[in-house]
Amino acid sequence: MKGRIYTEDTPKKVGEKVRLIGWVESVRDHGKITFIDLRDRTGIVQCVAQGVDRISVESVVSIEGLVKKRPQNLVNEKISTGEVEIEVEKLEIVSKSDEMPFPLSTDGLEIDEGIRLKYRYLDLRRRRMAQNLRIRFKTLQFIRNWLEARGFVEIETPILTKTTPEGARDFLVPSRLQPGKFYALPQSPQQYKQLLMVAGFEKYFQIARCFRDEDPRADRAYGEFTQLDIEMSFVDQDDILELTEELFCDLVKDIFPNKRINKRPWPRVSHKEAMEKYGSDKPDLRENKNDPDELAFCWVVDFPLFNRQTKEDFFYGSGKSEWAPSHHMFTAPHPDDISLLDKDPGKVRGLQHDLVLNGFEVGGGSIRIHQSEIQSKVFDLIGFTEEQKREFEHMLTAFRYGVPPHGGIAPGIDRFLMVVLGEPSVREVMAFPMTSNGTTAVLDAPSVPDKRQLRELKIEVKC
Ligand code: ASP
Repeated sequence: MKGRIYTEDTPKKVGEKVRLIGWVESVRDHGKITFIDLRDRTGIVQCVAQGVDRISVESVVSIEGLVKKRPQNLVNEKISTGEVEIEVEKLEIVSKSDEMPFPLSTDGLEIDEGIRLKYRYLDLRRRRMAQNLRIRFKTLQFIRNWLEARGFVEIETPILTKTTPEGARDFLVPSRLQPGKFYALPQSPQQYKQLLMVAGFEKYFQIARCFRDEDPRADRAYGEFTQLDIEMSFVDQDDILELTEELFCDLVKDIFPNKRINKRPWPRVSHKEAMEKYGSDKPDLRENKNDPDELAFCWVVDFPLFNRQTKEDFFYGSGKSEWAPSHHMFTAPHPDDISLLDKDPGKVRGLQHDLVLNGFEVGGGSIRIHQSEIQSKVFDLIGFTEEQKREFEHMLTAFRYGVPPHGGIAPGIDRFLMVVLGEPSVREVMAFPMTSNGTTAVLDAPSVPDKRQLRELKIEVKC
């Protein structure tokens, strides 16, 4: 808007007439004089008006006035514009606000989450939430620049695709052009990133959206989440762990300078030791659990390649084998244990690595199988039917054309930010997360489709 300045610039404009536009964060009526805290994307500034009508908080107003220095005893040190105030000459209500469904002055955690998500666009006006999303953006920018400087290229991979099992249920999308067939939303870009290695990119990453139909928890959003998906060729496990450690240490230093990483290099704990010593495969290695600024990263390695399949776990297999992949079915067995694949699969170690931060699993990855015979053997061991094997035939085919040994990792962005920002749930670092019963924020999906849509898809709904 012509002539508009931001609140953060007002201290530089003492003695000048300015125009501001933003939201009324608070109104304090003192008889003839009204104090208005005006908020825009850069902060707030106090405006002093005379003889104005009642203004509801969160209305959008445009203010013209004179920037004045406040007397020394009235300076507000808590805000960056605290030395000045605006003497209002003209005030126009651009868009009046109804009464807010909840207060914005608190951190919001005391408010029912369903209501916060219904009005998420208001909840995001809350300082803490706005700040979290800005930090999220800065984190992603940092990661992109850091990886680009090291020769990585970001490549987008399809969202409408075929199943890529990561241990959860798929979301299915019906096909109109091929009625009766369904796309699956990717649980991760795992297969595509491996195919990009066959394609010769060597260093790939993607800030990738992943879709998993699994029950929500505080540290796991329902439906979708974002991960930093990385894949590299001609590397061993050490290279992946070192690169990740360097990236996260540089990131913390730059974006979270108040945080202290308690140990470098990050400890590496074998899965066996983690279970025996800490009773968990995601040990919390903080020295002082009351210290909100301590970050204890560690690696958990030497996982078994397979776990026993349980009836409770959803697993994309025939259910005819006792084994399920511990990470996913593309994870390479430890080279020393290959001979055990036939004899004693439960004893085979996998080249899997989990990234743990303050007791949360914030990422996982592995060196991959790049030989068709071994991949095929793993399919057999997890009990794939011939039909299921055919679903992954493209991987075996790709592996026949000169495939570089490769591996990668995928740290979860939401979970990392939740831990580092000390938030109680991943939803606090996501703009529009779903509610715990799988309803989208604000828009209230899923919804009943139009009859015509269903007819075109040749789908009949039976419930
Ligand atoms: N695809 C894996 C996951 O989403 C990560 C990886 O193995 O790189 O957990």
